[in-house]
Amino acid sequence: MSVLVYTESEGGKFKKTAFEVASYAKEVATILGTTVTAVSINGGDSSELGSYGVDKVLQVTNDKLATFNAKAYANTIKQAVEKDGAEVVVVSSTTDSKFLAPLLSVHLNAGYASNVVALPESASPFKVKRTAFTNKAFNITEISTDVKVIGLSNNAFGLRENSGSAEAEVFEPSLVDADFDIEVTAVDKATDKVSIADAEIVVSGGRGLKGPENWAMIEELADVLGAATACSKPVSDMGWRPHGEHVGQTGKPVASNLYIAIGVSGAIQHLAGINASKVKVVINNDPEAPFFKAADYGVVGDAFEVVPKLIEKLKEFKSNNA
Ligand SMILES: Cc1cc2nc3c(=O)[nH]c(=O)nc-3n(C[C@H](O)[C@H](O)[C@H](O)COP(=O)(O)OP(=O)(O)OC[C@H]3O[C@@H](n4cnc5c(N)ncnc54)[C@H](O)[C@@H]3O)c2cc1C
Repeated sequence: MSVLVYTESEGGKFKKTAFEVASYAKEVATILGTTVTAVSINGGDSSELGSYGVDKVLQVTNDKLATFNAKAYANTIKQAVEKDGAEVVVVSSTTDSKFLAPLLSVHLNAGYASNVVALPESASPFKVKRTAFTNKAFNITEISTDVKVIGLSNNAFGLRENSGSAEAEVFEPSLVDADFDIEVTAVDKATDKVSIADAEIVVSGGRGLKGPENWAMIEELADVLGAATACSKPVSDMGWRPHGEHVGQTGKPVASNLYIAIGVSGAIQHLAGINASKVKVVINNDPEAPFFKAADYGVVGDAFEVVPKLIEKLKEFKSNNA
C-alpha cells in the first residue's frame, strides 16, 4: 500500500503543482502510516521530489509521451498504481490533471473527488473537504471505493519541504496504439509569462483602469512581484486584455497566495473565481465598492496614484534586501 502522486512537468522540469501534490501526499501517507511514490513522465530531477516527501519515483521516459495525452497518461498512471498497490492517488487541478483523473478513476474503479482543499477529515471512512458552487461553499465527500483519486485544488495546500530523499526506479508502462487515438497536435502558448494557475501572486485589473493603454503599470507591478496578470470579464470582453486573463465564475479560477485587485468592483461573479485565494488586497477609489467586504486589506484611493507609489516602494524594498 502507498500513496501515489502524479507529478506534472513541462519541458523536463517539474511544475510547482508537482511539489504541492507531493507535499499533500506526504501528509496523507503519514496519516495512513505508509510511503509516497511519484510517477514522473519525462519529468525533472527525482531528488527534487524527495525534498517534498516522496520516497520513490517511478520514472517514465518515453518520446511518445513527450506531449500530454490524457488516455496514455491515465493508462501509465493506472499501471503504476497497480504495480505499487497504491490506495490513494493524488493529482493536481490543472487542466491536464482534470482531463486524466476521470479516465484514471474509471480504469481503477475508483471514486474521484475533485477540488479538494484540505487533508482528509478522516481516513476510515475516507472523507475529504472540497469546494462547491464555484468556491462559495464547501462539502465533505466520502469515498468508499478501495482506490481513491484525489484532485487537489491548486495552491490550496501549499509547499511543505521535507528532508527526505527519493529513490528513482525506471518504469516502462505497456502502451498500445489505442492509447494514442486522441493526440495534441499543436501547443500555442498565449504568453511566456507566469500562468494564472501556477502563480503565487496575481495582479488583476478591472474597468476602473479606463483603457488598455493603462495596463503598463499593472504589468510593471506584476513584474516586480513575479506575479501573473489577470482581469475582470468586461475588460477581456472589450478586448483590453486577452481572454486567457479573465477570472471569475465564467473565467479562470484563481487560488493564489496573494490576489491584488485594482479598479475591480468585486461583483459576485468575479469573487466566485477568486475566493480560494489566501490574501486579497483591493485598490479602489470607491469606499463602497463591494470588493472591500471580501478583502483582507484595502486601499481607498485612485489606482493611478496608488499603484505607481506601490511599485516604487516595492522596488526600493527589493534593492535594500537584494
Ligand atoms: C452570468 C454572468 C457571468 C459573469 N462572469 C464574470 C466573471 O467570470 N468575471 C468577472 O469579472 N465578471 C463577470 N461578470 C460581470 C460582473 O457582473 C461585473 O459586471 C464585472 O465583474 C465588473 O467588472 P469591473 O469590476 O472590472 O468593472 P466595474 O463594475 O465597472 O467596476 C470598476 C471599479 O473600478 C473602480 N474605479 C474606477 N476608477 C478607479 C480609479 N481611478 N482607481 C481605483 N478604482 C477605480 C470603481 O469604483 C469600480 O468599483 C459576469 C456577469 C454575468 C451576468
